[in-house]
Amino acid sequence: MPIPCTRCRGHYPIAANWPDGPICNYCYQQAKRTRGTCGCGHTGVLPGVLDGHPVCRRCSGIALNLDCRVCGVEDELYRGGRCQRCELASLVDDLLTDPQSGTIVAELAPVAVALKAMARPNSGITWIRQRHVTAFLEGLSTAPTITHGSLDALPASRTRDYVRALLVEYGVLPPRDEIRIRYRQWTTEALNRVHQPAMREIIDRYVRWHVLRRMNQSETVSHGAFLRSKQTVTVAIDFVNWLSNEGLGLGDLRQGHLDHWIATGSTTRLIVDRFLGWAIASRLATPELTVPKHRRGTSRRLSAAEQDHALQVAVHTDELSSRDRALAILVLVFAQQIENIVQLRWDDVTITEEQVTIRLADLEIALPTPLDQPWRDLTVNPGHDQTAAHPHSNWVFRGYTPGRHLDSATARDRLRRTFSARAARLGTLEQLSRLAPVAIIAETLGYHPATIERHAAASSAGYAEYIAAIDDAQST
Ligand SMILES: [Zn+2]
Ligand SMILES: [Zn+2]
Ligand SMILES: [Zn+2]
Repeated sequence: MPIPCTRCRGHYPIAANWPDGPICNYCYQQAKRTRGTCGCGHTGVLPGVLDGHPVCRRCSGIALNLDCRVCGVEDELYRGGRCQRCELASLVDDLLTDPQSGTIVAELAPVAVALKAMARPNSGITWIRQRHVTAFLEGLSTAPTITHGSLDALPASRTRDYVRALLVEYGVLPPRDEIRIRYRQWTTEALNRVHQPAMREIIDRYVRWHVLRRMNQSETVSHGAFLRSKQTVTVAIDFVNWLSNEGLGLGDLRQGHLDHWIATGSTTRLIVDRFLGWAIASRLATPELTVPKHRRGTSRRLSAAEQDHALQVAVHTDELSSRDRALAILVLVFAQQIENIVQLRWDDVTITEEQVTIRLADLEIALPTPLDQPWRDLTVNPGHDQTAAHPHSNWVFRGYTPGRHLDSATARDRLRRTFSARAARLGTLEQLSRLAPVAIIAETLGYHPATIERHAAASSAGYAEYIAAIDDAQST
């Protein structure tokens, strides 16, 4: 039986013999990472233990190299005696330096600065060490000039999109409407799926004149519009390919063919009405055709039981991340729209010991315990700050893309694993219209109504305003 560790009493391999006794591997690692201010006034790493308190090297008499060889800071050391921050800087320099010239291209200098300044250097090191990221940054270092075009020439990848957004965020590249460009690339590939040349020409016209023109009418194309257009064109292509297989042209199309095609596939086929509407207006198909309406208006609502289950998951389990829980609660309990939620800024959030208050869509929403927990967690770890993506971000829900908030379609997809945000919102609205929200919250969360009421009262007139707004919305 080996001797036990003096600190944890565990029988693990001993890493060092310090003045307080033998120290196991685990306690050794932990000691190097313990930071604070020692009784002597020294602030830094406190590897020693004296009378149960962590103390500095001098006060404990522990000989341990904690001085960064590069910047001299006192910290846990990595490769070559460097601190995390210096290790990250060295990785960035290595990757962005052009091996030919031995320097970093002037255009990449701000990127180097940004990458080195990541809030948490250890996460940055992990990110950069991934093989695909390393390869990409190396490729970038030898690019003659950094332009959107030169990035387009590199293999398409998430890293490429990410670094592009980073270059835009730091002013190296001008902003570009990525969604529109991706859509154009997508349609070029999609057109190849049309079997018959004559039909391909029709779909091409449809895309150029109808879909792209509509996309161009708005300043920026949302991710949702992008997905919708892709779906519209995909269904149109499936349809014309089917027509070709049947030996039919658009002009030959009769109601019977159309009904048959719709009846023999998924309900997604109903959105062929968008393409057919255009084809009829362009005199390519007979105006007598009708497509049953795609029933978008009659969205499903979550039943009270489903609502309750979703709420349990959001509030009481660890199935979802803090970010998703925060989102889910605003949808489930407060019937807020995802589009508004993702745009929340930390300026809109007030956190006190007592509760968390959020200003959203002109409402003051108070979150009593336990609804506030995900927000408190988020302040500690807002997510995506492991990279340089959000240098000065005030967004609560930071997106994957540097400088942008979480996309509403992405947020919806994430929640879909637990519930449909739309169905949930409608379910919540229906419930709220029948019962007082205080009673619902109390009931679903298993709280005494008085507890919730007390919080509600403490949160100014928040709830009252909210209920009033709902009532107004319902009666008009
Ligand atoms: Zn130990
Ligand atoms: Zn000390
Ligand atoms: Zn250093």
